[in-house]
Amino acid sequence: MNSHYDVVIIGGGMVGASLAMALKNTALKVAVIEPYPIPDARGEGYQPSYDARSTALSWGSRLVYQQLGLWEKLSEHVTPIKKIHVSDRGRFGATRLAAKDYHVEALGYVVPNEWIGMTLISALKTEPNVDFICPARVEGLKRSEQSTCITLSKQNPETGEYDLEPQSVTANLVVIADGGRSETCQKLGIEIQTESYGQHALVTNVTTSKHHGYEAFERFTENGPMAMLPLGESDGASVGCTDARCALVWTLPEDEIDAVMAMPDAEFMALLQTRFGYRLGKIEQVGTRHHYPLKLSQAAEQVRAGIVVVGNAAHALHPVAGQGYNLALRGVVALAELVSEAAGKGENIGALPVLQRYINGRYADQDKTILFSDKITRLFGDTSAGVGLLRDMGLVGLDILPGAKRLFARQAMGLGGTEAKISS
Ligand SMILES: Cc1cc2nc3c(=O)[nH]c(=O)nc-3n(C[C@H](O)[C@H](O)[C@H](O)COP(=O)(O)OP(=O)(O)OC[C@H]3O[C@@H](n4cnc5c(N)ncnc54)[C@H](O)[C@@H]3O)c2cc1C
Repeated sequence: MNSHYDVVIIGGGMVGASLAMALKNTALKVAVIEPYPIPDARGEGYQPSYDARSTALSWGSRLVYQQLGLWEKLSEHVTPIKKIHVSDRGRFGATRLAAKDYHVEALGYVVPNEWIGMTLISALKTEPNVDFICPARVEGLKRSEQSTCITLSKQNPETGEYDLEPQSVTANLVVIADGGRSETCQKLGIEIQTESYGQHALVTNVTTSKHHGYEAFERFTENGPMAMLPLGESDGASVGCTDARCALVWTLPEDEIDAVMAMPDAEFMALLQTRFGYRLGKIEQVGTRHHYPLKLSQAAEQVRAGIVVVGNAAHALHPVAGQGYNLALRGVVALAELVSEAAGKGENIGALPVLQRYINGRYADQDKTILFSDKITRLFGDTSAGVGLLRDMGLVGLDILPGAKRLFARQAMGLGGTEAKISS
């Protein structure tokens, strides 16, 4: 461990690790502080960001992974989304997007979070300018004119407590990437504005009698939206359907979640079948269920002198439109580009005017993406009859108006914001 770094990233989750990767080609010295051990080469070792969920990466995020030199590795375990079907349960409106209409191989890709983590971490381990400080916890931060001093305590391997002699490192730039309940933001008095959706996302994998055909289903029901994403490649012709599953993200009201989590598998599958319908045939098997409370949260400040807030710590979105990580990844690319350019010009990378340039360039994409996922959630969560009709008209309209549909598709593909940079 060095005592001074150009950039210290607090949080080695999907976003923090992506930023470290995006900085790898700069000459900057980077450290990642993480309270959990980094998973080993076999994926063993617990790390909450790389859990049992899967993430729908947009086409734009694929381009980012290509730029990072990680796409080849990542693509060993990705499932392409070739079509998206959006529908409203019990109503006539529906819209369909197809990759071929946009001249791309896929609208997006579904990847297990664990594999995203393994790909990022194993690449970072070989980077000489990136240090992992873990398992360690940040105890305090103190800003002076040129840098920030971070006091941290490392975990005692014998007791599991973070009670070893505190150490400190300094950094020109501290990036806070410690997730939606950011303790670091709290320590710095950065307010997180939170609005609960009064819903939980239930996440599990399901096997269906019909192959997913690389189609993702976004289905809105009166109790909340659900997404069924294709996961696994096998078409079932020679090896059975064991490899082809779907990743389910099912939004349920707060007062329903405990009962649905407690249901025996058979009862759960019957309820899911009723709400999702038979587009994928019969639901035959279900994996372990997990659930997450849903909120829209945004940090009141994303930059301060020497500090940037990114990822879920900066903005946590409703997962239904699959935009949170994709948005954060675009932010990470923009931050890495700006920091590298500023360092090249001899500027202090933690200076507020430099960081202000970063955030000014990010607001439009953030606002648009947050509006897209928040409005979709609220529009489809409204059960009043007039709104139902509006939704139908919206979905039908999207289906027949190529311009509107193209805009919707670009947002879903992660190309609504910084396409100029990432499509080169
Ligand atoms: C059900 C669900 C489905 C989703 N699906 C999609 C999708 O399909 N597409 C998409 O784009 N997005 C999706 N998202 C959003 C996506 O998961 C998040 O945007 C992403 O995980 C954010 O990553 P992060 O690294 O910012 O935060 P986290 O994943 O929370 O990671 C934070 C990291 O910081 C560490 N940490 C915590 N506290 C500290 C501390 N005090 N000091 C140091 N480190 C700390 C943690 O151990 C962890 O490693 C989904 C979210 C949910 C809930």
